[in-house]
Amino acid sequence: MLLLPEAVDDYVGPDNPVRFIEAFVDGLDLAAAGFVRVAAKETGRPGYDPADLLKLYVYGYINRLRSSRRLEAEAHRNIEVIWLLRHLKPDFRTIADFRRLNRSAFKQVFREFVILCRQLDLFGRELLAVDGTRIKAVNNKDRNFTRGALTKFINEADEKLADYMKRLDEGDAQEEKAVGNGGGSGSSDGKLAEKIAAIKGKRDRHKALLDELDKTGEDQISLTDPDSRAMARMTKVGVGYNIQLAVDVKHKLIAEQEVCNQVLDMGLLAPTVEAAMDTLGVDRIEAVADRGYFKIEDIEACEKAGITAYVPKPIRGPAVAEGFFSKEQFRYDPDKDIYLCPADQVLSPRHFGKSRDNVKIDYVNRDACKACNLRERCTKSFRRVSRLENEAVLDRMAARLAARPDVLDQRRESVEHPFGTIKQWMYQGAFLMRRLENVRGEFSLTALAYNIKRAITLVGVPSLIKAVRA
Ligand code: SF4
Repeated sequence: MLLLPEAVDDYVGPDNPVRFIEAFVDGLDLAAAGFVRVAAKETGRPGYDPADLLKLYVYGYINRLRSSRRLEAEAHRNIEVIWLLRHLKPDFRTIADFRRLNRSAFKQVFREFVILCRQLDLFGRELLAVDGTRIKAVNNKDRNFTRGALTKFINEADEKLADYMKRLDEGDAQEEKAVGNGGGSGSSDGKLAEKIAAIKGKRDRHKALLDELDKTGEDQISLTDPDSRAMARMTKVGVGYNIQLAVDVKHKLIAEQEVCNQVLDMGLLAPTVEAAMDTLGVDRIEAVADRGYFKIEDIEACEKAGITAYVPKPIRGPAVAEGFFSKEQFRYDPDKDIYLCPADQVLSPRHFGKSRDNVKIDYVNRDACKACNLRERCTKSFRRVSRLENEAVLDRMAARLAARPDVLDQRRESVEHPFGTIKQWMYQGAFLMRRLENVRGEFSLTALAYNIKRAITLVGVPSLIKAVRA
């Protein structure tokens, strides 16, 4: 005999997150967010309400259930899902189709939750930590080819083919000689011909891929998920997508997220923070990022958009590579437009050139270098210090960073939490879907789930429900 409560509702306590999921999704304007099939057709059987399927997905992403088959199974046996869907049992195809058809609308749902958290004052709206990571795509490394790798393979195949052809000719000559002497089997020639055919086939396939790259102007090609790219993170290269997060340092909530297939983070700071400012409703904000975002055009764009950026300068360049004084050891005097070198000599502007879209000026003092005691530590002949015309923007940022070095620790502490949680705790080791638009939809759900879990920890389910209904 089972003495169970009589209503499903009795199993779902007032603090249960599903109560918030229901209240939140019911409060959304799904048609405005871009969900399809919000209004039922007059003909045929009515489909599932998108609100129910969205609730199922939000529940699933919070509880590490991302596949449509597992969500289908939960709708049959999980008391929370049964409560949330009121005994509805969509099959996995319906569930999967919903995610595919509404992939662009999930971003708006993510933003609606950010706005809700903003109303609860959970965002500090003063400092954002920006960082990127790679999440694996549905594309094995063996199914990705870079231009360099293809060219190398073709060249090596050509060399091998030339060698085999030579050996084949030599074999033929020996065969003729052996036949003349009454011997010769021809079996080694047959094996060689097989090898040649195999290499030729592989070479042709690689050449076709290279031709495809020439046609598209891309640098690499992925065969399973064509939008994914091979990209390095730390020391490892993998095929995936570049995930950008702007995390508010107050409570480590995600203010903005974007998925792209750009291999490097350079150039992504201003667009990511601008989108976050829009959702957070601010005109000015501070943003800190790591060296990978150091790009003068991006820092300039930040200043124009009201973003006070903190990005440390990478130590790179030919002088550093050769062990000479770095540029930081030369002091710029903006009033006189000169550099003072480590030997206290004046380097004046001499050559004007171009670096990408910027005017580049070289500062030199050949005579001083000729007679300098420090020359061995500075240059091979005479030292040239380059400066971009608009480099004052970087000087201002360097001064800000020198005055506030702790901001870099704040960055690390803030972004590690969501990335660590998403990758480990939420088991987001890889995307389930292919193509950029689909993985964008997937990641919006992941980021939404992270924010919901975090907000529940911070204020609890009843407060969130109260805010939704306010
Ligand atoms: S080599 Fe030239 S630039 Fe370098 S320290 Fe000496 S004078 Fe200055």
